[in-house]
Amino acid sequence: MLIIFGLKGYAEQLAMLTLVCAHCHNSCAHPLSRVVTKFTLFFVPLFPVRTEHSIQCTYCGAASRLTKDQAEDLRRQAWDPARNRP
Ligand SMILES: [Zn+2]
Repeated sequence: MLIIFGLKGYAEQLAMLTLVCAHCHNSCAHPLSRVVTKFTLFFVPLFPVRTEHSIQCTYCGAASRLTKDQAEDLRRQAWDPARNRP
């Protein structure tokens, strides 16, 4: 019997933030995303193996890897209604 297994990455956008890029120094939108790599058996995702968080500059395309805590902090900032009030 042939057993087919592998890994598959699932990308999810958590938030969109306006930040000053550390690379090009432009203030622009940065999507905060999470990529969950899941173990698959017969193409059915079973359990997550690895979770990576990253943020990318939409101006120059520079991406930075974030820790889970950094990603959670940024996500909280993005969704805090007090901060987004004019
Ligand atoms: Zn940039």
